[in-house]
Amino acid sequence: MEKILNYINGTLTEPVNGNFFNNINPAEGKPYGLIPDSNKEDVAQATAAAKHTFAAWSTTPARNRSSILIKIAKLIERDLDKLALAESIDQGKPVTLAKSLDIPRAAANIRFYATAILHESSEAHFTDNEAINYTQHTPIGVVGCISPWNLPLYLFTWKIAPALAVGCTVVAKPSEITPMTAYLFSKLCIEAGLPAGVLNIVHGVGAKAGQAIIEHPEIKAISFTGGTATGKIIAATAGPMFKKLSLELGGKNPNIIFADCDFEKAVTTSIQSSFSNQGEICLCGSRIFVERPLYEKFVAAFKVRTEALVMGDPLDEKTNLGAIASETHLNKILSYIELAKQEGGTIIQGGNQVKLTGRCADGYFLEPTIITGLSHTCRTNQEEIFGPVVTIMPFDTEEEVLQYANSTTYGLAATIWTENLKRAHRVAAEVKSGIVWVNCWLFRDLRTPFGGMKQSGIGREGGFEALKFFTDEKNVCIKF
Ligand code: NDP
Repeated sequence: MEKILNYINGTLTEPVNGNFFNNINPAEGKPYGLIPDSNKEDVAQATAAAKHTFAAWSTTPARNRSSILIKIAKLIERDLDKLALAESIDQGKPVTLAKSLDIPRAAANIRFYATAILHESSEAHFTDNEAINYTQHTPIGVVGCISPWNLPLYLFTWKIAPALAVGCTVVAKPSEITPMTAYLFSKLCIEAGLPAGVLNIVHGVGAKAGQAIIEHPEIKAISFTGGTATGKIIAATAGPMFKKLSLELGGKNPNIIFADCDFEKAVTTSIQSSFSNQGEICLCGSRIFVERPLYEKFVAAFKVRTEALVMGDPLDEKTNLGAIASETHLNKILSYIELAKQEGGTIIQGGNQVKLTGRCADGYFLEPTIITGLSHTCRTNQEEIFGPVVTIMPFDTEEEVLQYANSTTYGLAATIWTENLKRAHRVAAEVKSGIVWVNCWLFRDLRTPFGGMKQSGIGREGGFEALKFFTDEKNVCIKF
């Protein structure tokens, strides 16, 4: 069984207390490795190392920081197959998805910030020939980056890349459910020659190791992606310490389909936006609203395509849907399917746990599930399920669907399908979501800021804003 180690001060190391817990392979329902059960002592060591190195790293010329990050990106690309396999085993996602999406995007994140830092500029304002005001950004210090299990290396790198590029040193914690790619990443950092202490990775459970990062007084900013409930705990701890906070939280995303859409594209992409990564992407559209004239036709076609999805061994290249990330999460999703039935929903497809044979006989597999007949206000349609479960509801007017779409406490992402340009702009302007896709889904340009409204979070990741997030900002006014 592979023993994962912390990465502290440039060295792979056991946790101070010597304790480990099991790393479960969700496709087999069995342990296949060990994870350090780190606590605040490990976080203290990691923070001390990061603090010690900060002066040197923050004054390292940007081109040198950039070239080390580029080396790391190249090593990710070199190890694409190995990392994709590791992520598939750790999380249960199809290996083809890890190979085509997660791992290439992890390398792209690092390349983006490694090059963006070479083009950073700051603003200057001349005041009536009397004065010049300029804005200076300096790396804020040691920062904490905490990432979730659904897109493990992709979201991990999205946080640490801008922090490292801008000159901060980092104490990071991946999810205990999917620590393997972050561990392999720490080995690549050593190989690339990242100086000791610049990045420190502490493995362990959120309430212990994660909480210790949030509480540590020397950690000046926190970039967190995860559930809204955890986000509230983090805000409650870090807020009174006046730490800078970026919180990327949950979603309950509407997928709005008008009768004038390109039907084929809308159905095909809605299958992806509903069930990619077993529906365990924060941006998945879990509530599908279809304009009434198209409703029956859409439901029928969507059901046929869902039935055709191949569920199976994540390591099999033919698999479309792999395992749910953990047994606890599987049970949570199943409880929501029961709730949907109690709320009067009709399960028109799926709804059951699946028992595979062979290697995956004890894995956590769930049929892709379609539910109709629910109101937009019921709990099934208000709470984040984060699995391969979608509801489909009809609507008659734009006003009505906007009311449905905006009725949750979340506001992360939305998708709109229409060939009417004016309507696309009108509806996009009214949907309360941080990101809106029209006639596409999950299309990303790393230059655009990313984040949610309402209880989907505060702050923005991606774009040049992420570089600014990890800095102190100062405005200097010089009178002529
Ligand atoms: P969690 O909130 O459970 O965990 C996220 C991370 O926080 C994990 O590393 C977790 O560690 C850690 N953590 C848990 N408790 C604490 C604490 N008290 N202090 C510090 N860290 C803590 O989310 P999940 O991992 O279950 O991820 C799924 C959620 O993430 C969904 O709600 C999804 O919508 C959201 N998400 C949001 C995205 C966005 O960009 N807005 C993108 C992707 C996911 P551990 O796992 O070890 O407990």
